[in-house]
Amino acid sequence: MSKLFKRTKILATVGPAVFSEEKIEELIMAGVNGCRLNFSHGEYTERDQQIEWIRKAAAKKGRSVAIVQDLQGPKIRLGEIRDNRLDLHTGDQLVLDHALTEHDGGMSVPVQYNLADKVKVGEPLSMFDGKVKSHVVEIVSKTAIKVEIENDGFVMSHKGLNLPDTDFGGDIITEKDMADIEFGASRDFDYVALSFVQSAEDINKLRQILLSHGSTAKIIAKIETKKAIESDEAMEAIVKATDAIMVARGDMAVEAGAEVVPIVQRKLIAMCREHGKLCIVATQMMGSMVENPEPTRAEVSDVANAVIQGADAVMLSDETANGRYPVETVRAMKKVILYTQNHSHVSPINHEVTGDYKNYDAISSGVVQMAEKIGADVIVCQTASGATAAAIAAQRPKLPIVTVTSNPRVAGQLALIYANSAFVRPYSETYGLDLAQELKDNGYLQVEEGHSDILAVIISGHKDTAGGTDTIKIARI
Ligand code: PEP
Repeated sequence: MSKLFKRTKILATVGPAVFSEEKIEELIMAGVNGCRLNFSHGEYTERDQQIEWIRKAAAKKGRSVAIVQDLQGPKIRLGEIRDNRLDLHTGDQLVLDHALTEHDGGMSVPVQYNLADKVKVGEPLSMFDGKVKSHVVEIVSKTAIKVEIENDGFVMSHKGLNLPDTDFGGDIITEKDMADIEFGASRDFDYVALSFVQSAEDINKLRQILLSHGSTAKIIAKIETKKAIESDEAMEAIVKATDAIMVARGDMAVEAGAEVVPIVQRKLIAMCREHGKLCIVATQMMGSMVENPEPTRAEVSDVANAVIQGADAVMLSDETANGRYPVETVRAMKKVILYTQNHSHVSPINHEVTGDYKNYDAISSGVVQMAEKIGADVIVCQTASGATAAAIAAQRPKLPIVTVTSNPRVAGQLALIYANSAFVRPYSETYGLDLAQELKDNGYLQVEEGHSDILAVIISGHKDTAGGTDTIKIARI
């Protein structure tokens, strides 16, 4: 059973390459546990369509799949470029003007944000995921700035800009984000991801906004700015404030330098594990599979390292959203995850838990120790809020956690958490035991060779209330 059970989860971005019910179903069948909808692109009608397809496909498979709304945040983009290409050379001077509605083919281009009252002369500005580097040489007018290009390259319409040293005044939730949050609150999102988080304050603000719209989605803080990673204290404050972290390696590399990414990744995964928070490693994990049917050796190694470091989930972006081999990429990723988990241990962390999380930690570490000592096949967790299941996952057990809850939102959220498979059933005192029996009967929990039954450790509360966990039971099924 445990040999086939993927402990590290896969979050796949959905986009044009998988824009049909059949394709989304194929992704889920291949091993996807969560789907990310990137709100930097696309229309609301498409979003509704995708949500419907994901929910249908998940129900068909009888599994919970998380849906993530990824907000664009203060990502500044160029406007429309004539013929969708402008070649640039070292030493060229380019004007970025918010007042321009269209590019006339020359060296003044429209930009979707007024940079003139934010940037200072000398500050770096890169375009197109860091492919074109420049620095500010002049504030030309109330709406326009001039930059000097530092390398040969080209830009295209709507490509993003990065200004790692510019102070945007702390407010990172844009008008577009506010409209998208309002749309999302009335839709079926399990998580909302916030781009370009700078501090815990941004998370607190988003939480207030979500609450004011009645949203039950959890928050993913995308870590990609210099400010968010300027010290271990800064990172830890964000980890404490949020429900989940995404190591957003794409923009992080442009903002802070590619060389910082591996160390920040390790630190963030360890911090999330210490605080019982979800950690997702994102971007270019299997980037070459956008074009090729097989990953490179380095990509395989990258995914395996994230598994060994104990990430809850690994993410695919362009590979599944725009690539030529979306389903093959998921299959390849799953293969690496399974092989790695079956041939390596998850790296240990300093696990000194304090504060609010302490009680959950005490119960969950006891459960995992007991289950591993008696050679249990599965931990079954009855949960109302999902917190107990998440705390057990934070111990990074070698065996699967099967979770049962009456709340579909909780099941969707647990779908991305390490080793968890969540099922929705109406509440009963015995639904953990009943679910284990059902999963054994339909072959999902397979009896080991030479055994006639499954050994389960069942953890439950006496009521369907958060924080009510009080019973650990060992059962042969
Ligand atoms: C990233 O920059 O790595 C990332 C995940 O963000 P996005 O894909 O939204 O640019």
